[in-house]
Amino acid sequence: MDREVRVRFAPSPTGALHIGGVRTALYNYLFAKKHNGKMLLRIEDTDQTRFVSSAEDYIKEALEWAGIKLDESPWDGGDCAPYRQSERKPMYMQYAMKLVEEGNAYYAFDTPEELDAMRKRLEAAKVVSPAYNSITRNSMKNSLTLPESEVKDLLAAGVSYVIRLKVPRKEEIRLNDMIRGWVMVHSSAIDDKVLMKSDGMPTYHLANVVDDHLMKITHVIRGEEWLPSAPLHILLYKFLGWESTMPAFAHLPLILNPDGEGKLSKRKAAQYGFPVVPLKWMEEKDGQVTEVASFKEEGYLPDAMVNFLAFLGWNPGTDQEIYSMEELIKVFDIERIGKSGTKFDIAKAKWYNQQYVRKKTDEELAFFLKAEMKNQGIEVSDELAPKICGLMKERVTFPKDFGNEAIYFFKRPTQYDDQVISSKWTQETASLIQEFAQLLKAQTNVTADEAKHLLHNMLDAKGVKIGKVMQSLRVALTGQPAGPDLMQIIEILGANETSNRLSLAVNALKGKEIVA
Ligand code: GLU
Repeated sequence: MDREVRVRFAPSPTGALHIGGVRTALYNYLFAKKHNGKMLLRIEDTDQTRFVSSAEDYIKEALEWAGIKLDESPWDGGDCAPYRQSERKPMYMQYAMKLVEEGNAYYAFDTPEELDAMRKRLEAAKVVSPAYNSITRNSMKNSLTLPESEVKDLLAAGVSYVIRLKVPRKEEIRLNDMIRGWVMVHSSAIDDKVLMKSDGMPTYHLANVVDDHLMKITHVIRGEEWLPSAPLHILLYKFLGWESTMPAFAHLPLILNPDGEGKLSKRKAAQYGFPVVPLKWMEEKDGQVTEVASFKEEGYLPDAMVNFLAFLGWNPGTDQEIYSMEELIKVFDIERIGKSGTKFDIAKAKWYNQQYVRKKTDEELAFFLKAEMKNQGIEVSDELAPKICGLMKERVTFPKDFGNEAIYFFKRPTQYDDQVISSKWTQETASLIQEFAQLLKAQTNVTADEAKHLLHNMLDAKGVKIGKVMQSLRVALTGQPAGPDLMQIIEILGANETSNRLSLAVNALKGKEIVA
């Protein structure tokens, strides 16, 4: 291709951007960057009735969060400005007029009542999908059926009208989708879509095609739900004389509910306990504002989310699963996008998050630990926080998990794991632990290695195997049955605190000793 690759993400600001929308934006971005092209964003706000004012900022923030950088947008400008369709309103009428003048579109003056009556008539005649089309338009009030003079009079009198596309009666419309291959649609299946509304605003179809043309879009990469609109768009390209520069189309497979049934829905996602929007969203319903759960708020890292979303419908054909954005750009290939829907697998999303938490440095994670502890009224020093994170990072899925997982570094246990105590805590264990506590008391400082030697020497002298006391020691110190290296925990807690905790546990568990 000799043209510069130009793709666009074209959301409608009707609410919070869905995670599927982030995937569409991501695939556009990866494709553009792979081909050294441009990615632009256009706000498709022609439907004023569904407009939500905060949605645009949300889209901007969500893409920034995900690291999807735009070359042209309503916020950064570009050669094709403006990038909001509402601001482009004056541009569309000339194209609608060209279609009318060349006999490919027509004025329709039908009132809502007349349209309703038509629908009822068709329903009564058992027509499966009643539509304003190449057959029914002949009995309606439009510039194809009315005498020219009457049309002129109606227009001059300012009678409200729409402009409809005159879809040919018998024509095979063919589309070579980059993902699906050849798709064939017969024009009789397409209705005479409204192109210009009575308020002078274009509909999605006209505005979308005109803008893609004017913005020199080379590839339209969008969700499968737009596939039924594609034949109509192809007709428009043809009628407007833009066939030679028509973009290539790629319709992305649907993201399905975890059970594989239907398109991913908010309701099903809530049932499975995961969000469907990237960032926090305040939803207004019946005068009440509620916060909608989001991936960011739940603790998903943007790079993990990007990696996960990239694999939701695409794969590189190798075993490698971890890819940075830069690496994704290198290997991304539209040919490797699947045709069928992909189930949303939240376990996989969590796995990705875990992997990316592990990739972070101890210092980066320290920020989260400090914040979580602060919420609980605990100040953690800059020196200590990275040490704890280094020890704990294999054990958390979300950075916020540090709040629970690492709490025993700051609070003495008040409970001791029942299962370990009721199976391991013998008189002998208790006295060995008490003895170890005494040994530590004599130390001012203890490193993990020193603690280990102290314990081993003590046990060796008595001929006791380490395995006999290890788990009980952990529970006495942290309350938990599992965790990271115990000697490292002792080093962080210090000799004195460890000694005190062990003595406290032995006392608290008096009478609970089992007979081995
Ligand atoms: N405005 C449409 C949407 O909200 C864009 C569809 C397209 O990319 O053509 O998804």
